[in-house]
Amino acid sequence: MSGTKVTPDDAYEYPTADELEAWLVGKPAVVIELARRVPTTTCYRMRGNEGHYVVASYAENGTFTLAHGRDSYLPGVGVFGITPDEVIPCGCGRWQWPTAEQRRATDARIERQHARLVACGDPKCEIHARRGRRRPRGKA
Ligand SMILES: [Zn+2]
Ligand SMILES: [Zn+2]
Repeated sequence: MSGTKVTPDDAYEYPTADELEAWLVGKPAVVIELARRVPTTTCYRMRGNEGHYVVASYAENGTFTLAHGRDSYLPGVGVFGITPDEVIPCGCGRWQWPTAEQRRATDARIERQHARLVACGDPKCEIHARRGRRRPRGKA
């Protein structure tokens, strides 16, 4: 996360509808259709948990990535492969960036869980690539 201009305590700036439309010019039809169904201009909720989410990106397979905020169970994580019927528009506008502490805790948790996999099959996996160079129990 080096070089990011947005600190976790900054309010999230939702794009306006005009900004979203301008960004969509020239994008694939599937992305345009998706973005109009699930625009980045508002926050969302999901059934079964208390968190708020914002749309971080759209994929050409008709799914999108949701960013987990401060009040969700995976603060700081972007979850891809979400479909429009999985979210409920909220519109409260109060999605918040996770705190730095939450991000560290989430990173550590994901790393611990992922590192238990013998091989994840992702040649670009940073966690597994790092395992060779790192000794998790090396520090007392
Ligand atoms: Zn909301
Ligand atoms: Zn891996």
